[in-house]
Amino acid sequence: MDNFAYVLGDEATGEGAIVDPGFEPARLVAEAGRLGVKVTHVLVTHAHFDHVRAVPEVVKATGAKVAAHRASPLRPDVPLDDGVVLRIGHVDVRVHATPGHQPDHLCYEAGGRLLTGDTLFVGECGRTDLPGSDPRAMWRSLQEVLARLPRSLEVCPGHDYGPTPTSTLDREFRDNYTLRPRTIEEFLRFMQKP
Ligand SMILES: [Zn+2]
Repeated sequence: MDNFAYVLGDEATGEGAIVDPGFEPARLVAEAGRLGVKVTHVLVTHAHFDHVRAVPEVVKATGAKVAAHRASPLRPDVPLDDGVVLRIGHVDVRVHATPGHQPDHLCYEAGGRLLTGDTLFVGECGRTDLPGSDPRAMWRSLQEVLARLPRSLEVCPGHDYGPTPTSTLDREFRDNYTLRPRTIEEFLRFMQKP
């Protein structure tokens, strides 16, 4: 499924997080160890199985707390809301609610990077035809939430679906056909086409 999981860490304290552990928990925990990251949190962009299936194993191996949207079916240890800042070590992780693909979807901004989960891929946006999806909410998330963030942010998506693994918001707002300026009605028609 070409899922990406991420390890982020604070170089000063060594504390850090694993983001979206969908598969291969032992490999993720080993990679965190190799990087010298003590995993205090698991960050979840949304509760689809390919982003969370390995959460229990990672928690068991690390004792990390699970942070996700307050409304997440995971019932997170650290319930998050739009606009809050989660501190991991000395790193501020800014939480942006981006519903559309799923109602509990969050993007995480930290250290000049934006972890976009299944809201934004390189060259694409997430599907809005799944149970719980809402194309109107996706339009707002893309055109009102992501559009207001610094364009210099490096986009780190939840799947390897693009020509490059990562991008920047600047490049995506120039090249990504799902981010072209559209009214909400135009976007709804656009998302209905296969
Ligand atoms: Zn998903």
